[in-house]
Amino acid sequence: MRCKAHLGLVFLMASACAAVQGAGQAGRQGKVNLVVIFCDDLGWGDLAIFGHPIIRTPRLDQMAAEGARFTQFYSASPACTASRYALLTGRVPKRSGFSWVLGPKSPRGIHPNEVTIAEGLKEQGYATAIFGKWHLGRPAEYLPLAHGFDEYLGLPYSNDMRPPKWEDIPLIEGNEVIELNPDQRKLTRLYTDRAIDFIERHQEQNFFVYLPYAMPHLPLYPGEDFAGASARGLYGDVVEEIDHHVGRILDQLTKLGLAEDTLVVFTSDNGPWIIKDEEGGSSGLLRDGKGSTWEGGVRVPTVFWQPGAIEAGRVVREVASTTDLLPTAFAMAGQSLPAERVIDGRDLSAVLHGASAERDPLFFYGPRELHAVRSGPWKLHIRTSSQTGIKHFDGKLPLLFHLEHDPSEEWDLAERYPEIVAELQALIDSHLAEVAETGTDFDE
Ligand code: MG
Repeated sequence: MRCKAHLGLVFLMASACAAVQGAGQAGRQGKVNLVVIFCDDLGWGDLAIFGHPIIRTPRLDQMAAEGARFTQFYSASPACTASRYALLTGRVPKRSGFSWVLGPKSPRGIHPNEVTIAEGLKEQGYATAIFGKWHLGRPAEYLPLAHGFDEYLGLPYSNDMRPPKWEDIPLIEGNEVIELNPDQRKLTRLYTDRAIDFIERHQEQNFFVYLPYAMPHLPLYPGEDFAGASARGLYGDVVEEIDHHVGRILDQLTKLGLAEDTLVVFTSDNGPWIIKDEEGGSSGLLRDGKGSTWEGGVRVPTVFWQPGAIEAGRVVREVASTTDLLPTAFAMAGQSLPAERVIDGRDLSAVLHGASAERDPLFFYGPRELHAVRSGPWKLHIRTSSQTGIKHFDGKLPLLFHLEHDPSEEWDLAERYPEIVAELQALIDSHLAEVAETGTDFDE
């Protein structure tokens, strides 16, 4: 509504305008919308703003220039299912019983007693949707509609779990299969189109959109407009396409006047699939990749965007994790944390708005067995693994690294600082005892 008025009518028209704007705000109750864009296997080094010399990501560069870039942000797991569980529940994967990745025929899924971000925000009147990869259980009782989402369109698991090795891969809408073996070249655009449409339809109320893209997980399928466009081959093509579609989401929010009322988070579920050579991504200066608990397996390129609320161009160097999204989202929405369970994440609101954390939180590296802990700058490995088969440091354990001096984990300091090794080992022991006491799964 435009508020042009002649002088004599200025007061009345101004009041009317305030009422109209107030009605929109009242519909959203002054709460912040949430959009979480979750890439699959995007490495820490795969975006221009995280140092990639060739792949072009102008919209993500812009998102970071207008928002906050996190340099020490972790996905809670180096593997798909466990990392999605942690993002949606705020709990470390060890509590779920999910140790790795669910196969297409697994009878298991996310437990009904878990509380997801979608369920909590729904209690606050949010409209909720997921467009993309679920991977928290294929049977209908485990699909998104049973876990707080109003709408779902996507593949129920990884895009490589298809013929000839597996059965036909379904594209699911709600709980129904609408297509088998869909053309994967169209998925990034399709998911984005649906997200934009959902935002448009729910602009008068609060909304949560979870957008877990299938790409750049193998097999790589760039859309028609992006095939061959990047100098970094197929992998660069799909990342540049994601960048384009992230820009469309930001443009839509801006066009609807919702940018300042919407927190957009862009991140990845785990590190790059480096054993796939050229078709896998890069973890930049970090060691190793997907499936390992070296930094390259779990530290992921992350940007938060909410113009006007987050200071433009911030670089956040504090440790944070995907488990922090649930407490942050619930704090923004006025939703209390779910009772009778441990929530491992913490509310990032203060960090987002410029305050320094008193100290960095602990970060435990899983998921099958506990491999390592980070406290402040120190990381202690008590186990290591790599899909490459390489035994870094000839399999020596424990290993101690100062991640601020040595983000590439090159200089083992375990012999030099035995007292720090003992301190971190004690943190691991007490964490394992606490998880054992509080339970790892509602079924147990
Ligand atoms: Mg993944």
